[in-house]
This record gives sequence, C-alpha cells and structure tokens, in this order.
Amino acid sequence: MIVKDTRAGLRIDVDTLRGTKIGVPGLLSTLERHGIKATFFFSVGPDNMGRHLWRLLRPTFLLKMLRSKAASLYGWDILFKGTLWPGPLIGRNAAAEIRQAAAAGHEIGLHAWDHHRWQTKIADLSQQEVQQDIKLGMHLLAEIIERPVDCSAAPAWRITTAALKARASLPGRYHSDCRGHSIFYPLTDGGPLSQPQIPATLPTYDELIGKNGIDAKNYNNHLLSLFRPDKLNVLTIHAEAEGGACRAMFADFLDKAQEQNIDFHPLGDLLGSCPKIAEDKIITSNINGREGWISCQETSD
Ligand SMILES: [Zn+2]
Repeated sequence: MIVKDTRAGLRIDVDTLRGTKIGVPGLLSTLERHGIKATFFFSVGPDNMGRHLWRLLRPTFLLKMLRSKAASLYGWDILFKGTLWPGPLIGRNAAAEIRQAAAAGHEIGLHAWDHHRWQTKIADLSQQEVQQDIKLGMHLLAEIIERPVDCSAAPAWRITTAALKARASLPGRYHSDCRGHSIFYPLTDGGPLSQPQIPATLPTYDELIGKNGIDAKNYNNHLLSLFRPDKLNVLTIHAEAEGGACRAMFADFLDKAQEQNIDFHPLGDLLGSCPKIAEDKIITSNINGREGWISCQETSD
C-alpha cells in the first residue's frame, strides 16, 4: 500500500532574546536531525516582552500562566524584561543565531520589530506607524542575513487593514498573519492585495495544553490527529516553548509525524503546490485558549 504524504508548513515564531539565543540553536539541531527545513520568523527590535507582566493582574492571563507554567516555559528573566528598562535589541544581541538559521537553509521572515508593541497596540497604529516598524525590522533582519526579507508573520495573529496596506506597500512574497484553512489573497476595501496569506491552521502548545484532558503525555498524539492529508496544514511552534522546556517533546512529535509521512516544509514552498489562490476577507475573532482578539480568514473550511 502506498501511503500518501501529508504536506505541512512548519513555522517557528521567535519572540524574545532568550528564545533567539537558546531556543533557536536547539531547534536547529532538532530540525537537522530530522532533515526538516522550516520558516523562522524573527523579532529583531527591542525585547519588551516583560511588559506582559501587568497581565498577571488579569484573571484569564493568570489562568493561562498557571495552565502552561509560563514561568518555567519562558523563564522569569523574560517575564521581567522590559518592565524596568528598555529591552535589548534582539537583532544586535543575537545576530549569530539568526545567521545560523539562515545558513542552515531555513526560510527567514520577519515576526516583528517590537513584538510587545505590535501585540498590544496594533489596533491603534496608523498605516505609517506600522510601515515604519516593518521597515525597521526588515532592514535589520536583511542586514543580519545579508539578503532581502520577503515574508512576515504578525505577532499574536493580529493584523489590521492599516497593517495589511503597510505590508502591501513594501516588497513581499507572502505573509502569515492569521488563522484559517487555505492560502488566499486578502480582500480590503480597495480590492484584493497581491501578496497572499498563508494562514496557520493548527493550534499552538499554549492553546492546547492543560485543557480537555490534554497533557504532556497525550499532547503529540492529539496534535497529530489534527493534520489533514488533503488540506493545508500549517503548524506554528515557538522558540521559547518547543525550543526550550518542550524540546524533547517536540523531537518526539517529529519522530511520530515522520512515521505518519507528514512532510514538513518552509511556508513559502506551499505556494507552489497551490494552483488557484482564492480571495477572502480577514476578520477579527476569538479562539479557545488565547486571550483577546485574533485575525481569522472569514470563510470556514
Ligand atoms: Zn510571537
């Protein structure tokens, strides 16, 4: 019997300096052992992720912290970073690790200039302000990897019309800014944009763990059950989680995925296997396990 391969995109979001310096090299060796190429989306500006700390005061975030053991996942230094002084520039402090990912043949894209600012302020930023942030990120990342950057992924799956238009005014092959089920051209009030979206289709570790009976023991099997051979599959992992406290579990996941003929690729490779790209809108929505709003493809599967 010939078992058909399931094609899947693998996206690695890197949010913090610690994730870049420690999580990225760890993931690079795990991926190399499995012969997998993926897409790394880097944050290169100030690491202000410690500003998340104020969210401890909010009950839903506190529950999530307890559920996912955020402190052991991220380390206390990350949680405090940026609360008392401006965060360090990740691109300047971890250029070697970013270059290492590029040299290993992985696709490299921009996650954010300032992850925390995007995540918390994007709804209020003008097209010009977002464009400025994206340009800062693109320039520094291109300088580090010594080639142009042509793809990006919005932090926290939060994108606005202003941000979409800001992106569209700059060169770009594709973006991965939302959740959805198929590759599409985003429709705005001015018509469809020419840079396609490759949405994430699968939930993340912090959305799944500790809910509905999912624990470290059955997590990998549950995640594998969500892959669909005949559909778009895009998995997002985080350098801070799967490259840190969950690295052994992630390596086991890749072993199991390869036994099931799941074939991981950088996201950009999926464009070639998509013969006709439809148009669709991006709407604001909520999903289980994630605090606040996120952007989703309007039509459902
Ligand atoms: Zn992120």
